[in-house]
Amino acid sequence: MLSPREAVRTLPSYHPPLAGRDGLRLDFNENTAGCSPRVLGRLRRLPADDLARYPEREPVERQVAEFLGVAPDELLLTNGVDEAIHLLCQTYLEPGAEALIVVPTYSMYRIYMMAAGAQVISVPAAENFRFPAEEIRRQLTPRTRLIAIANPNNPTGTLVPADELVELARRAPSAAVLADEAYFEFCGQTILPRLRDSSNLFVARTFSKAYGLAALRVGALVGDPKQMRSLRRMSSPYNVNAVALACLPEALDDQAYIRQYVSEVLESRARLEGALQNAGVHFWPSQANFVLIRAGATSEDAAAFVEQMRRRGILVRDRSSDHGCEGCVRITLGLREHTDLLLPALEEVLSNRQMVQGARP
Ligand code: PMP
Repeated sequence: MLSPREAVRTLPSYHPPLAGRDGLRLDFNENTAGCSPRVLGRLRRLPADDLARYPEREPVERQVAEFLGVAPDELLLTNGVDEAIHLLCQTYLEPGAEALIVVPTYSMYRIYMMAAGAQVISVPAAENFRFPAEEIRRQLTPRTRLIAIANPNNPTGTLVPADELVELARRAPSAAVLADEAYFEFCGQTILPRLRDSSNLFVARTFSKAYGLAALRVGALVGDPKQMRSLRRMSSPYNVNAVALACLPEALDDQAYIRQYVSEVLESRARLEGALQNAGVHFWPSQANFVLIRAGATSEDAAAFVEQMRRRGILVRDRSSDHGCEGCVRITLGLREHTDLLLPALEEVLSNRQMVQGARP
């Protein structure tokens, strides 16, 4: 009888709550305003011929490489960072290999690692979600073949200094070390200039967040040219579709749009963090376009908070089931006008919550 590989049979499924997302989207760390209008202009002018032919990735790959200040043979455009993670797992993990993550973190690392048949080593973050550098070192073995670190991390918003990741790559020479910089634009720190320090280091970037192009599915993976040759062999030549390839140069060209958006997000983040502080709600200071808050003590509290916000037209994300995040909710930040809607709703929900909690015996 036909049966999938064992790693697939036992794979947990990941169902992000995409259904019925009516309201202000503060649940998926997307751009709340959308992409640059220049991208929409390009989309409208797309000739039929561009859709009829198979997409050619390389010319756009060269433009993205130039933008990032790397050589074209150091970069692969991918179908979002998700594909970059998948390719790294397929390229470096064989059954029984060890793959290391720091939890809580982005869910897809574990899933693609498990799908490759690897043993996932989950190192818990240190106090207040700090990077557990020492514990990671203790967990390294000759079988460690991949280490994936989101920097800033999702859902905590915490950032590891670039030096620590370079040092980790040096200590684990037979492991691919991924610095997933999906939220780079909101923190400005990158390991990219240090990439050549260690040939096992990789950096991933995405156009899904600050650029507002999550639906187009484009990301970039950068690494040592020799390693990138293997990754390129693993990927489909048509992994990035023609619409995404047509739009990307326009998106890159409109840096003023990105600067303006990022500056509004940073202002929004400061406003939210200030409001949380005033309300006495515990949160973790963030370097990304979202903030993780402790909405209550239990997962029921978090679910009730998310529901109360949804009733006020605001979608936020329950992170209660993530390691060490019981009662936690993640709130994405966006434009000033969106924060103007978020803050009063938050205040109302928090004051109702206090009334309910105050009524408890
Ligand atoms: N990495 C991290 C840390 C993320 O939070 C996300 C999106 N939630 C991704 C990667 C996926 O990005 P993409 O849309 O480029 O696949």
